[in-house]
Amino acid sequence: MSASTLKVAVIGAGTMGNGIAHVFAQSGHQVSLIDVNAAALDRAQATIERNLDRLVAKERISAEDKAATLSRLKTSSEMHGAVSDADLVVEAATERLDLKLKIFEQIDASAPANAILATNTSSISITRIAAATGRPDKVIGMHFMNPVPIMKLVEVIRGYDTSDATTATVVALSQQLGKIPVEVHDYPGFVANRILMPMINEAICSLHEGVAGVAEIDQVMKLGMAHPMGPLHLADFIGLDVCLSILRVLQDGFGQPKYAPSPLLVNMVMAGKLGVKSGEGFYTHTKGSKEIVVAPAFNG
Ligand code: NAD
Repeated sequence: MSASTLKVAVIGAGTMGNGIAHVFAQSGHQVSLIDVNAAALDRAQATIERNLDRLVAKERISAEDKAATLSRLKTSSEMHGAVSDADLVVEAATERLDLKLKIFEQIDASAPANAILATNTSSISITRIAAATGRPDKVIGMHFMNPVPIMKLVEVIRGYDTSDATTATVVALSQQLGKIPVEVHDYPGFVANRILMPMINEAICSLHEGVAGVAEIDQVMKLGMAHPMGPLHLADFIGLDVCLSILRVLQDGFGQPKYAPSPLLVNMVMAGKLGVKSGEGFYTHTKGSKEIVVAPAFNG
């Protein structure tokens, strides 16, 4: 598979899917962005256009580049057609094992035999996902970071059967997208989330135990550890539901109590407080603005 111009199908048009579709289209690839939810596709298209406008305003790309990028991008709610001639499929649907297994069974049945099937999962076993297909050597983790157009890292995760050729292709492709790939092995949470999520969970536990408030916890980690964003603010950006799912994967995978999610996180997710995507998490987020309005009163 040559990395020049590929047909790429991106499954899931949420927070990550729109960014993944954006970077592939901007790098010259033909992209089909697929979601079961038509509203998610509309939102993704609008987000990509807004982000391209920002790049034009900053003179990083020309208006022609923007138009060419958009001309390489199409959206669809029908998976089979978009996947049937793909060179590469990148799955970025909701972080649920049962859903991902079903999607991989479907894309394995529809995609050409030589297509690489990548998943952007934050934590689910690549080996387990690969076993749902007849081509485990061509299944790999391609873990982009949020926001995808800005963050340089792609964590490239080799499952038990992922071949050297598949890994080399995905590493080269990540570089062609302007990213920096880092190869890791397939254990719960890989590297990024095995280290990040316990920190976020500990920040939520500290809040729950009344050690400090939201602003104070984030301030300590920003000023003291030189983190660009505090852990509670970051959790809002990632999505509290996504954080909870990842912690459950770590808890199940390692069987150690240290990965048990904070009861406060569980409650917030049950209450629909998911962070930026729902408008409220540890902070309230005004639509269309990065401004943090106020930390909600903690109901411990
Ligand atoms: P999200 O909830 O914003 O979006 C998920 C999208 O998948 C939704 O639009 C949903 O309609 C769609 N979807 C669900 N079932 C589908 C199906 N059968 N076919 C097509 N689309 C379907 O989630 P997200 O934050 O974009 O996360 C997507 C993936 O990326 C997850 O595996 C997550 O763990 C991973 N990830 C998330 C982040 C982050 O910061 N949010 C970072 C890295 C990786």
